[in-house]
Amino acid sequence: MKDCLFCKIVNKEIDSDIVYEDEDVLAFNDINPQAPVHVLVVPKKHISSIIDINKLDKEERLNLLSAIEKIARQSGLEKDGFRVVTNTGTRAGQSVFHLHFHILGKRKFDWPPG
Ligand code: AMP
Ligand code: ZN
Repeated sequence: MKDCLFCKIVNKEIDSDIVYEDEDVLAFNDINPQAPVHVLVVPKKHISSIIDINKLDKEERLNLLSAIEKIARQSGLEKDGFRVVTNTGTRAGQSVFHLHFHILGKRKFDWPPG
């Protein structure tokens, strides 16, 4: 997608602080962190949100989920817990329309969310 910020990050046209990469997935630190650990995990293939998850093939979906687990462990989050969020649609606060999972950790989180 030509004008997509996260496609540009995936294609390394825009710099990011990459914490994980495999054939299907890129993860980088959020530029405006909301927690001491705040990583964005994106599929390299452009889809706009989780609503289009089935446009990814089975292996891409598996690698995406699996990457979340790996990044959580490598960030040392598995013991104390962490939150995984994917805002979907403007009403839920989505601002970049390339699917991404936020991994947030190293602080306490409230429930219900705001
Ligand atoms: P959302 O609002 O759920 O769509 O999340 C988009 C996230 O992308 C926000 O948390 C932003 O801080 C983050 N973000 C925007 N631009 C960049 C960038 N260039 N590098 C890293 N994170 C970014
Ligand atoms: Zn994109």
